[in-house]
Parts: sequence; structure tokens; C-alpha cells
Amino acid sequence: MKKLKYMLIGLLALLLVLGLWYGRRSKAREYTKTEYVLDTTCSVTFYGDDAEAAAKEVFDEIRRIDDLMSLYKKSSDVAKINSAKAGEAVTVSEDTYKVIETALSIGEMSNGAFDITIAPVTELWNFEAENPVVPQESEIAEALSRVNYKAIELCKNRTVIKQNDDTMIDLGGAAKGYAGDCAVKAAEKYNLSGGIIDLGGNILCFGKNPKSENGKWTVGIQIPFSPAGTYEKTVEISSGAVVTSGTYQRYFEAGGKKYHHIIDPKTGRPAEQDYDSVTVVSDNSLEADCLATAAYVMGENAGKNLVEEFGGEIYFEQGKKNQ
Ligand code: AMP
Ligand code: MG
Repeated sequence: MKKLKYMLIGLLALLLVLGLWYGRRSKAREYTKTEYVLDTTCSVTFYGDDAEAAAKEVFDEIRRIDDLMSLYKKSSDVAKINSAKAGEAVTVSEDTYKVIETALSIGEMSNGAFDITIAPVTELWNFEAENPVVPQESEIAEALSRVNYKAIELCKNRTVIKQNDDTMIDLGGAAKGYAGDCAVKAAEKYNLSGGIIDLGGNILCFGKNPKSENGKWTVGIQIPFSPAGTYEKTVEISSGAVVTSGTYQRYFEAGGKKYHHIIDPKTGRPAEQDYDSVTVVSDNSLEADCLATAAYVMGENAGKNLVEEFGGEIYFEQGKKNQ
């Protein structure tokens, strides 16, 4: 009788331990983390036992890319290139080298609509400032005379050489896309069943979505100038990147006109189009980022053709103000 009592107590204790363990385990299955990085609010939601550890590493990885490619951080690869003299070989990380390589090739394929040497012009418009002002024609012309992606040469041993002292690069149209690829790679090292990463409107998905029957992810395409999270169109993907370049993401108003941050390298002014955003869906987030910016500048037909050459899908959206 006593033996049976002890066995029952043992069984209850075991059930209690198992219950606690299972409770903790199921609680850890979904984990969301949000941080301000890459000049925007980024968040990740991961599913699986390692969700919390994966999220931590993913943010470390995003910060690493930001540190390498920021235009404003003094120790970044970009700052090193920008302060170098003509002909000086600047050694950069493998990551920066790869981003510049892809950016230059999309620069070529887009006939210069995507041009990372746009930096003197973006600096002039200074969208980051508290009170930006519209630059003078003469200032735009001077800055534009320094823009030409052909002045950047990629050489052996991860070195970059500029042809002119005053050539500067801005990887703002590509770095976030690359950070997305790196974030997914970092997450996939962990025991996760799936996850979704939002880098300020650049969405990346991998694995299975536990909240949908077919395991796929549904991503909404933001309606420009509407509150964040407002959408009509959605895309359904198994995995990959959904990257948006939109005028509503960074702009200022002066004299009743909106001036946005996607610059047409032909004019040195915000590219003027009938649409307010371009979304590219692709397996490669770096390419999608360069392509979305390029396509915004190029226009609907040329932009669509370029994206299709890369095997991606493209969507153009118009905000309410234009309808
Ligand atoms: P995205 O948000 O990806 O469209 O990138 C816009 C950012 O890329 C801007 O804030 C600038 O830093 C940079 N940029 C603007 N115009 C261009 C351009 N024509 N080619 C390359 N980068 C650009
Ligand atoms: Mg881009």
C-alpha cells in the first residue's frame, strides 16, 4: 500500500515537472523582438525552441552590417571609401565588397538609374536634417558633376579604388536589403520552424508560417501615405524578400510640395513618377533592394523589365493623395 502511495506521488511529481517543462517550451515557441537599427524600426518574430537566441544574433548581425555600411558612422567601410584619395586602395569587408559589386552591376543594367555615387546629392538634400531645405540649382549641378558609378573600381583582395578624390558612395539603397539576407542566414543556423523579419518595410520570411494552413506567409503591400500596416494588395510567399522603395518612407515638405529621398541621378532631384512606391519580390533581398530603388527611378515599363530579368515580381502602388 505504502509502495503504491510513493509511486503515485512520484507519478504526480513527474507530471508536474513535465507540465512545467512543456509550458515553458510552448511559451518559447513564438518570440518577437523590436529594435531601432538601420535608421528604422526593425522587428523579428521567430517560431521554435531557439527563437530568443536567434533573435539576439539576428540583431547583432543587422547592427554589424549597419556599422560597415552606414554613411554617417566614421569607422564604416563607406566612410573609409568616402574619405580616400583617388587611386588609393581601400580594403573593405567581404560584405561591403559584395554589396558594391551587386550595386554596380545593377547600376550598369539600369543605365545609371541606380547609382551608389549619388552621395553628394543625397548629402545636399539632407533628408536626415531637422529642417531640410530645397537646394539651389547651382548646388545640385555641382553635386551631380561628382556622380558617376563608373568612378568606383573593385580590385583584388577586397579593395575599392575611386577615380576622383570627391567621389562618394551611399549604400542607403542597398544595405538594408543585404542586412535582410544576412539576418535570414543567421536565423537559419538555429532550431526554428520559421520566422518573419521586418526591416522597416523590407520583409523577409523563411520556414513555415504556423498561423497559416499551407505554411506560407502573406505580406501586405503598404498603401503609401496611409498609416503603417494599411494595405489592400498582398503577396503570398513560401520564403524570400518583399522589398519596398517608397516616397513616403523619407520626405519633407516645402512650399506645398513633397520632396522624397529617391533621387533621379539624371536630374539630382527626387524622381518624379505617377506612383509612390515600388515593391519587388525576390529570393535575393540585396538584389530586390537595389532593383526597387532602380525601378522607382526608371519608370513602370523599364523597371518591370529589369526586375523580370532577375526573376522577381514587381508591384507599383499609388498613395491616396494621388488618386
Ligand atoms: P530605398 O529606400 O532602398 O529606395 O533607398 C533610398 C536611399 O538610397 C536614399 O535614402 C539614398 O540614401 C539612396 N539613393 C537615393 N537615390 C538613389 C539612386 N538613384 N541610386 C542609388 N541610391 C539612391
Ligand atoms: Mg533600395
